[in-house]
Amino acid sequence: MGRKFFVGGNWKCNGTVAEVKKIVDVLNGADVPSAEEVEVVISPPFVFLPQVKALLRSDFAVAAQNAWVKKGGAYTGEISAEMLVNLEIPWVILGHSERRALLKESNEFVADKVAYALGQGLKVIACIGETLEQREAGETMTVVSEQTKAIADKIADWTNVVLAYEPVWAIGTGKVATPAQAQEVHNNLRSWLVANVSSEVAESVRIIYGGSVNAGNCVELAGQPDVDGFLVGGASLKPEFIDIIKSAL
Ligand code: PGA
Repeated sequence: MGRKFFVGGNWKCNGTVAEVKKIVDVLNGADVPSAEEVEVVISPPFVFLPQVKALLRSDFAVAAQNAWVKKGGAYTGEISAEMLVNLEIPWVILGHSERRALLKESNEFVADKVAYALGQGLKVIACIGETLEQREAGETMTVVSEQTKAIADKIADWTNVVLAYEPVWAIGTGKVATPAQAQEVHNNLRSWLVANVSSEVAESVRIIYGGSVNAGNCVELAGQPDVDGFLVGGASLKPEFIDIIKSAL
């Protein structure tokens, strides 16, 4: 059973109305593999979601970059999962390392968000990954399995989850993980899922890689058996994102 290749574009906190239009024009004009072959999900900042959703080609989907951990209400500045559902935004990125680090989102908090978003019918790109310090201390698998366990403890159905392995030291640094490094962690994560969730989930859940993916390194990374796609930051704002989508084939 094949896992459909997944390419997410995480625009982070970037863009203007004019820039958004330009990027979407490039995406809409691109000749890429069909939606049967690759699932493409674009994640602009919240304020641009309706604009992107309205303009974007129908074979690409959109994702929010965060959602609140429970039902909306008196939480100034937050965006609820219900609102995303109401706007027909199908996907949300949760647990990105920038939020874990800068906004102190804990494993528990991220897992609660994942569970809540899934419960509302959203599909989730759940991010995990170790820092350079943790890697150098030989703690990579401990860290990513703890992050995954927090989520596994709170959800029963993984159908709508994509797991994004994003080593923190590779994000926005230009220091991409080698294909072997990515494959090793993805494969270990799949083994962890076999042992701790189920072999069905391990076989079907997509584990995508993120961290300095670009047009030059995507093909070799995509060739790894356990790399099921990418979460792309910087390069998702540029035309080379099209080449990354094409690495699906
Ligand atoms: P990058 O970001 O591609 O700019 O390294 C990836 C991410 O943070 O999702």
